[in-house]
Amino acid sequence: MSIGRDDIGQRSETVRRANLSAIVRELHAHGPLSRSELVARTGLTRSAIRGLIGELADAGLVTESPAARLGMPGRPSPLVRLDPGGAVVIALEIEVDAIAAAIVGLGGHVFELERVDRPRGHSSLDDTVADLADLAALVRSRRPPSDRLVGVGAAVAGIVRRADGFVSMAPNLGWRDVPLGGRLAGALAVSVPVSVANEADLGALAELRRGAGVGETHVLFISGEVGVGGGLIVDGRPLTGAAGYAGEIGHMTVNPDGAPCRCGSVGCWETEVGGGALLALAGRPRESGRAGIDAVVSEAAAGSETALAALDQVGRWLGLGLASLVNVLDPRLIVLGGLFGRIHPYVIGPLTSALDRRALPASRALVHVVPAALGVDAALLGAAELAFEALLADPARWVASRETPAELATA
Ligand SMILES: [Zn+2]
Repeated sequence: MSIGRDDIGQRSETVRRANLSAIVRELHAHGPLSRSELVARTGLTRSAIRGLIGELADAGLVTESPAARLGMPGRPSPLVRLDPGGAVVIALEIEVDAIAAAIVGLGGHVFELERVDRPRGHSSLDDTVADLADLAALVRSRRPPSDRLVGVGAAVAGIVRRADGFVSMAPNLGWRDVPLGGRLAGALAVSVPVSVANEADLGALAELRRGAGVGETHVLFISGEVGVGGGLIVDGRPLTGAAGYAGEIGHMTVNPDGAPCRCGSVGCWETEVGGGALLALAGRPRESGRAGIDAVVSEAAAGSETALAALDQVGRWLGLGLASLVNVLDPRLIVLGGLFGRIHPYVIGPLTSALDRRALPASRALVHVVPAALGVDAALLGAAELAFEALLADPARWVASRETPAELATA
């Protein structure tokens, strides 16, 4: 078999694109790096790095500051950093009782962020899409028109098909078979891709890149508000399942004699550990939402026995469900997000006892349980990461779009 000139040209173009992607990913994940550090991290030669950085700088994606010594011996190496305004995304989040929108720049810089509470019952698809479009327009209006928008990402408390953002079910929003991705693209009137994913999956992605899970490869992220979701990172990759529905840990049956769940089943984990369960145990209306949960936490801090007993029971049910997940997945880290991050100090005791008692000792010994580091914004920041994925995978497309045909011909 002979290899023609065109094949060689095509192959070197493939290598160039992969190398540009490797550099942009490193800078996006780790912040500014010297050329020497980029050489060490990517395995590329010094001269290859120089050429590729030049291309990225011409495209407005990176800047280089004068040589810095950084405490290392030898020749000082210029510091390369992404220009956060060189590419921005719109991140959106749909919760049961709130929506949020942010403008996030390359490297994860949050330029603008707005979160607004919404009354319960104001969560029809039409209302939600209209409210999100208004909120997105508000945050965009605070940025210069020169911002280069490269994508939109949305997190939703529902079961989402990744390919087209179709929400097959969002029980706590009351949605079923809703084409959210398409509706958002229409309402935002943007020409860039709109990606939608489950909020817990995106919370896990954000915690892995920028929060409690940095450097970890086997992570179980559980997130609770009204519902309970899970984001599973296995071998450094999100476990999505065949269509993107995986991780619905809130709907594991844990109590066959338990309460009916919004999903149609009975005794799901979220009926024992979700926000509604905690509020009911603490003697508060199930509909009191985030404010009600904050009140339960305040009461517990003040020593209320009712509040402490409610949190204790939720902690035991949390440990029971986590024990099964630890046995199945063998994670190194469990990150408690959303509601669970806020109640972590009160549930970690009973949770740990239940985990010790029920998980297999070998798997149990290796796992740590920590609160989320990004707090309430984890899923929104994960939506931004989702929106950047196309650029990170192939920055050459953005580089090329800024070059003239003459420059392309001599490349
Ligand atoms: Zn359920």
